[in-house]
Amino acid sequence: MFLFKKNKDNGKNFILKLWHNFSFACSKIFKSKEHKMGGYYLIFGVIFVVSLIVQNKLKAKFAFYSQLHLQNGMSGKEIAEKMLYDNGIRNVQVISVPGQLTDHYNPVDKTVNLSEEVYMQRNAAAAAVAAHECGHAVQHQVGYAALKLRSSLVPLVNVSSKLLNIILIAGFLVMASSGNKTLLAVAVVLFGITTLFTFITLPVEYDASNRALAWLEKSGTVTKQEQEGAKDALKWAARTYVVAALGSLAQFLYFASMLNGGRRN
Ligand SMILES: [Zn+2]
Repeated sequence: MFLFKKNKDNGKNFILKLWHNFSFACSKIFKSKEHKMGGYYLIFGVIFVVSLIVQNKLKAKFAFYSQLHLQNGMSGKEIAEKMLYDNGIRNVQVISVPGQLTDHYNPVDKTVNLSEEVYMQRNAAAAAVAAHECGHAVQHQVGYAALKLRSSLVPLVNVSSKLLNIILIAGFLVMASSGNKTLLAVAVVLFGITTLFTFITLPVEYDASNRALAWLEKSGTVTKQEQEGAKDALKWAARTYVVAALGSLAQFLYFASMLNGGRRN
């Protein structure tokens, strides 16, 4: 997000130039004539592999810290309720939702939703997730700016992601048949909104984890070892958001370069 802070157009051109040079360099490695596309496919491949590694690492970390049973014997639900209470939050409910990795905070009905495992289990992994979701509740309570911005973008992102695929396909068809890029430009703008959203998500997620870990440490609810485990688990969870944001940015630049490339040629 900071990349677009100063001047939108300059920022975009700068990134595109950087991207172009980088992809050209990558293509040299692969001796591809289609230097631009070769570079993009290399980047997509790298991001794909990195995302697989991060996902696997995350799974392994959570499996490992699920075996680290809390000495206080508290469940995820109890951890969440204590963190909310300690933060003076009395109007947020902790509830259980079906499925895995379904944990989230809902600001609309003020509920901390924990997946069944996290809700019931009494280990460092469950404590980490429960406290992280409460971190979002605390953000909501204190009016944390990035959360506000993210929440305000949700309706727009929902609409643009629904329209995106169809406009993108139509945009390519129109460009191929008539050379007109207007519709493709609309698709790129919509994609830009979803990319921006993935980057605004980053400070929100990191901040929620920081609040969770600070509380776990300060309140003395868990042992030092359990707290270190929660920190490690949350670190890998946050990295999945970083990879998702980078993947979205790569795709955005790929589509944007199609607009840019046409004008130049
Ligand atoms: Zn979160």
